[in-house]
Amino acid sequence: MDLRLSKEDHAFRDEVRAFLAEHMTDGLRRAMELNTCFINEPPVALAFHKALHAKGWAAPNWPEEFGGTGWSPVQRYIYESESARVGAPTFNDQGIKHIGPILMKYGTKEHQDAYLPRILSGEDVWCQGYSEPGAGSDLASLKTRAVDEGDHYLVTGQKIWTTHAHFANRIYVLVRTNTEGRKQEGISFLIMDMDLPGIIVRPIDGSGGDHEFNEVFFEDVRAPKSGLVGEENQGWEIAKYLLEYERGGNPQAARVRARLSSVARLIKRYADDDPSLTLRLAEVGTDIDAMEMLELTLLSDLQSGKNPGAVSSLLKLRWSAMQQQLAELALDIAGEDALRWESGRPLYESLQLPPDTEEMLGIGPRYLNYRGYSILGGTSEIQTSILAKQLLGL
Ligand SMILES: Cc1cc2nc3c(=O)[nH]c(=O)nc-3n(C[C@H](O)[C@H](O)[C@H](O)COP(=O)(O)OP(=O)(O)OC[C@H]3O[C@@H](n4cnc5c(N)ncnc54)[C@H](O)[C@@H]3O)c2cc1C
Repeated sequence: MDLRLSKEDHAFRDEVRAFLAEHMTDGLRRAMELNTCFINEPPVALAFHKALHAKGWAAPNWPEEFGGTGWSPVQRYIYESESARVGAPTFNDQGIKHIGPILMKYGTKEHQDAYLPRILSGEDVWCQGYSEPGAGSDLASLKTRAVDEGDHYLVTGQKIWTTHAHFANRIYVLVRTNTEGRKQEGISFLIMDMDLPGIIVRPIDGSGGDHEFNEVFFEDVRAPKSGLVGEENQGWEIAKYLLEYERGGNPQAARVRARLSSVARLIKRYADDDPSLTLRLAEVGTDIDAMEMLELTLLSDLQSGKNPGAVSSLLKLRWSAMQQQLAELALDIAGEDALRWESGRPLYESLQLPPDTEEMLGIGPRYLNYRGYSILGGTSEIQTSILAKQLLGL
């Protein structure tokens, strides 16, 4: 892979910068700076996403035939770096980064025609129904049943930790369609509309005070069979493919670097005389450089049609650790000020204080919410086991 930027790449970077300068309004910038969640809320990100869509840039990771950008790895890298640098939001990752690639690979033409354009336009918001109270790391133990009743499945069961189910109008769910044999072999991948009778969403407030997760109950839901993706009982293969994308298919280095820059600003302002903080910051900075090289290699592999594979576990392990180290560093810089608490959410609406004070009020919730990074998409222990088996052959 050639990492030097060509004349065309420089021109592309200028185009990206011009776009961002036009669409990163002051209000959006402030909402993003005060975002303490691990992803952005759709109401914050929608207008920006629509502008991306109008430009043809809504899905940097999709091929052109499905309405994506078809960008080269270098273009994608430029875009991700520039948008992370100015804190631009991403919109509904579950749609663009997760279910989109699944439908391109496993969906029928009908699925693709019905859902992909609405993901691009931002009309649909998706959520992921994988985890259950008794099935997280051991996902294959899931019990939500889908019983074939002719023209529909009758779905009963419960999902948990369903991020943004309260914003979503679509859900993709792993369901049990067979109770015989190996548990992995009786799972199917089903998509449903959230307004089907019998789907009930109950909020869970996180320790950081934000409402990101939910419980989702399925009480005798009649789910149309047209929502089956792939073959019946092929769900485990599809779920694993998706998890690779969730963990490592999307570059994170630029986002972590942007967080590092904001922590560097905090050190400069409040703790310039403490070299131990600068040392910790520099260690994370070096780790980001190493991760970025790995991500560039992966981007290039994805471009040539390969799956992310086990490297995605390595990336997930590293970026989640770095985000947490930076959140902890910010907490140490803020000291007792991090204990000040604003309970209203979202912060960009509930706060009307001088910018420095507002910034301090995001540090504590962010630290708490970011604990989830090493759990979501598979815990750090699970990623370590995958690496041991698949990369080291242990
Ligand atoms: C921020 C966030 C967002 C999430 N969003 C979603 C979502 O949108 N949709 C969804 O379906 N789920 C979501 N989840 C759920 C997430 O996928 C699960 O929490 C995760 O898979 C862990 O499962 P669990 O919570 O049941 O913990 P458990 O699996 O019970 O694990 C508990 C502890 O035991 C350890 N452990 C378990 N098994 C092993 C093992 N074999 N070897 C070593 N250690 C082990 C784990 O590492 C962990 O420390 C989200 C979680 C978080 C934190």
